Amino acid sequence: MKSIHVKGNTYVLDLDLLYLPYYKIDEENIILLDTGYMRNHREKLITYFEENHLNVAGILCSHAHIDHVGNAAYFREKYGCPVAMTREEAGIVESVLSLKKFYANYAMNHARDHFGHMVVETDRMIEPDETEITFCGADFRILHTPGHSTGHITITTPDNVTYIGDALISYEIMESAKLPYAYILTQDIASKMKLYSLQSSQYVLAHKGIYPDVKDLITDNIYFYRNRAEEILSVITGPMTKEELLQEVALIMRIRIDSTFKYLVVERMLQCYVEYLLETGRIIQEVQNQSLKYIPMPKKQ
Ligand SMILES: [Zn+2]
Repeated sequence: MKSIHVKGNTYVLDLDLLYLPYYKIDEENIILLDTGYMRNHREKLITYFEENHLNVAGILCSHAHIDHVGNAAYFREKYGCPVAMTREEAGIVESVLSLKKFYANYAMNHARDHFGHMVVETDRMIEPDETEITFCGADFRILHTPGHSTGHITITTPDNVTYIGDALISYEIMESAKLPYAYILTQDIASKMKLYSLQSSQYVLAHKGIYPDVKDLITDNIYFYRNRAEEILSVITGPMTKEELLQEVALIMRIRIDSTFKYLVVERMLQCYVEYLLETGRIIQEVQNQSLKYIPMPKKQ
């Protein structure tokens, strides 16, 4: 696994699909910013820490998605280190029941089997009004960027390097992503706008890249997400059920749905765009013949 020196004591581990930053407190101790996937990354990370004589002294999470907190509980136990994240995100992963609330379209047993390993106790809650925290002796700046998830944050290390997490996606991801995810897209776009105010030396995106400047990337991200919503709107030519819309979008975007899991993932991703179109008044929902239909609103002149 490749380690990239970003600046000062801030490093990034290249985990193929994602960048995982860490901050070195001293020669031996590091603070991990997120923890990767359980299945693909756990062993790789442990081997890397052992070979480089590193001890995980703390875990600071940008948000509680499966590729970010996948090893939080395991590392907390193994290294006896504290975990910090926003109160909002901590609430999602505090128990299997709270995960079930978040993954509402999964049956309880499936929520437990797929996501149970994400359950972790948070030692240091980051409150909504906190913009600076001291964690394991290091000072981090926090920018609250809800939207991609409800309590997402960006984290700026003492080297003035900002870990953007999933608040932005790279140009490579924009080329390949069909329905990039946001929990609440209107909030996510507002949070992307907040990122213009950052004045950091470097920016690390989880998916994925290191950028000296992100102003153009912010603009392009906002355009990209809005454009995706417009594409979905263009599919809704008349009253459509959610199922009809999903089938049509999958066809047009060439999304292969070949398992229940994939169906549920695509359904959830589509939902964020549908909610965005509802929230921005581009479509309405109405019951017709006992079915819920999405209906386009005529364009204002
Ligand atoms: Zn995420």
